[in-house]
This record gives sequence, structure tokens and C-alpha cells, in this order.
Amino acid sequence: MDSKGRKSIFITGAASGMGRETARLFHGKGWFVGGFDVNDAGLASLRDELGADNCLVRRLDVTDRQDYRAALEAFGKATGGKMDILYNNAGIGKGGPFADQPFEDVMAVVNVNFVGVLIGIHEALPLLKATPGSMCFTTSSSSATFGMPGIAVYSATKHAVKGLSEALSVEFKAYGIKVADVLPGLIDTPILPAGAVATAPKEGMFRAIPPMEVAKVVWEAYGSDKLHWYVPPELVEMDKSATLNPEAMREQFGGGTLFMNADANAG
Ligand code: NAD
Repeated sequence: MDSKGRKSIFITGAASGMGRETARLFHGKGWFVGGFDVNDAGLASLRDELGADNCLVRRLDVTDRQDYRAALEAFGKATGGKMDILYNNAGIGKGGPFADQPFEDVMAVVNVNFVGVLIGIHEALPLLKATPGSMCFTTSSSSATFGMPGIAVYSATKHAVKGLSEALSVEFKAYGIKVADVLPGLIDTPILPAGAVATAPKEGMFRAIPPMEVAKVVWEAYGSDKLHWYVPPELVEMDKSATLNPEAMREQFGGGTLFMNADANAG
């Protein structure tokens, strides 16, 4: 398959949730979509939905550098060596109190949510550099505003992603590559624990939001110079409060019990 000169986006975690909605949105705008995930069934239905001529859909475990390299090579072949957007979005939400969390889970979260992002950006740089106006975009989280009890490691990886975006947004200017990220609040996707959406507040910054709202932000970010995108936008206030008065924030989280779904992640 061939992008036939269309703009192209490489999306990890494309089989489900916000990655999938982003694939849909960009496909609708006439882009060529690279969809990568460890969820084979989800990928197959994504290919059926977008049409085999409009996408390159392939299994990819983002923690496997060789595999990531091979996926990028296949993508580059299809696009004539171009990549307009790299969207590092794959993530897992294994949580629980740190003291009880098996160390295998700790490392799985670090490897998928942060090491996978490092691999992706490092390996995709040649394609991004070769594409005028390209963008490197990553999914961080509202848990990157203040370290969240109950999902401490997850939250730490999302801080790492945010910091990485900030530093690279400066470094990559020299290559003409824009770098940005999104900090979503509570988005209605399978990564959430069962019942999380039903019990979510009906309004406020932690109301449940459809994943298409994040996809729209990826689109908007491509035409903008903004660095951090909050979904919903009022989440920025939490970031400001955490910076100005972390002790007050710590008090608010006193008995925090934010747990993501340990079983939600294929592979
Ligand atoms: P999701 O579970 O629907 O999608 C995540 C996808 O990542 C899944 O399809 C999964 O198979 C894939 N994945 C997991 N491990 C992988 C690996 N090793 N290699 C490749 N793909 C892998 O959930 P989502 O909410 O759409 O998650 C997308 C991103 O958004 C994640 O990084 C998540 O941490 C982040 N996030 C989610 C929320 C929320 O409320 N849903 C909030 C903030 C941030």
C-alpha cells in the first residue's frame, strides 16, 4: 500500500480509545493512517473500517525497539520517507498502592508509557526531520499535574512524558519539528476501571469525556504552536494550583483512591 502523496500520521495504541478516534478523524480528513497496537482484533477492525488502501495497520509492541524500527520502516516505505505526525499514545494503566504493586507491573507501566515513547521518538526522528511542518505528539495525562496516589508509577511516567515534550519542543525547533502533548482528564475508554464513567461527576474537570475530543485536539495541535493541551481545558487550573501550592494539593488527595484497570490492557 501507498500513501499516494497524502499527509500521514503514525499512531500507537490505535486499536482502541483515543488512538482509534484519532485514526478515524484523520482518515476522515483524507490522511494516510499508520495504526499500531498489540490488540490484533482491534487492528483488524480498524483496517476494515478505514479501508486497506488508506492505512498501514500492523501489530507493534512499543517496548520492542527492533519491532518499532521495523514498523517505522514499513511506514516510511508506504509514505515515501515522510511522517507528518508521530502520535505516541499507547499506554497501560496498571495501578494500585505502590507498596502492593508487583515490581513487574511497575516496570510494565514504565516500559510502555515512557520507554515506548522514548523509542518511538528516537527511531522516528529521521522521518520527522524529512517532513516539513511535522509534529511529535504524545499522550500525557491530568495525572502529570500532581503525582496521584493509587496510580503513582503511572502518574510519574506521565510527568516524564510532559517533561520530555517540553525539552524536545526546544531541541527539535532546529529541525522544524513541533513537539506537543495532551493531558486528558477522564476519557471514556476501556483503560478505565469498570464503573468509572457511571460514577464520574456529571460536571467539572473530571466529568467523563468522549475520546473524539482528544482526537480533535491532535488535529488542532497540528495547526498550532501550543505545547500542552488540557482536555477539558479547565484542567490547566489544577496544574497551576499544583505548582503554586503543592502542599495544599497534597491535602486534597489525603485519602486518594484513584485506581486504573489492571486488566484493561491487551498484551
Ligand atoms: P485504551 O486502553 O482504549 O487504549 C490504549 C491502547 O494502547 C490499547 O489499544 C492497548 O492495546 C494499547 N497498548 C497497550 N500496550 C501496548 C504496547 N506495549 N504496544 C502497543 N500498544 C499498546 O485507552 P486510552 O484511554 O485510549 O489510552 C490512550 C492513552 O491515553 C494512554 O497513554 C493512557 O495512559 C492515556 N490517558 C487516558 C486517560 C483516560 O481517562 N482514558 C486519561 C489520561 C491519559
